[in-house]
Amino acid sequence: MGHFLAIGYVIGYSRIMDKILISSCLMGQPVRYDGTAKPVANPHLARWLAAGRLIAFCPEIAGGFAVPRLPAEIEPEAVAQDVLNGAARILDSDGNDLTTGFLSGAQAALIAAQKAGCRHAVLMDGSPSCGTSFVYNGQFDGTRKTGVGVTAALLMQHGITVWGQDQINDLAAHPSVC
Ligand code: SF4
Repeated sequence: MGHFLAIGYVIGYSRIMDKILISSCLMGQPVRYDGTAKPVANPHLARWLAAGRLIAFCPEIAGGFAVPRLPAEIEPEAVAQDVLNGAARILDSDGNDLTTGFLSGAQAALIAAQKAGCRHAVLMDGSPSCGTSFVYNGQFDGTRKTGVGVTAALLMQHGITVWGQDQINDLAAHPSVC
């Protein structure tokens, strides 16, 4: 009996109250390229916020970009990992190369997440930084393609699980989160 209690204690203890990195725009901060926010209403988010568990972070602001700014996309035919490997760029709609700032913002997000001990991040899907399931095709014509942003890719590379804003309930149900 004592053995089972010990196992239960260990399992229960693994659901620690760890912190979660979250895209600033999802927390209502107007930091998107067009000066808007994308606030998400979710009871789990409200609970984590009240418990001081959310680390709001915008990689593009950390990378030195202004609000508003031109839209940016990973160049056509490339994926985020190519950008991290130095084999592709992120360009704005005027063709300016923004790769250095995007990489610097991604590194800053990783450092913030690691410093806070985050094992999970909730990121704004579709962004060339924060995308978790899709990004845009690099032609600035509104066409989506499957993929992630450079911050999401870097976090994943370092063992941090990324979730889109539509997956918050799934994250809340994850065995390591409470
Ligand atoms: Fe939101 Fe991420 Fe874009 Fe910043 S970089 S505005 S946090 S999606």
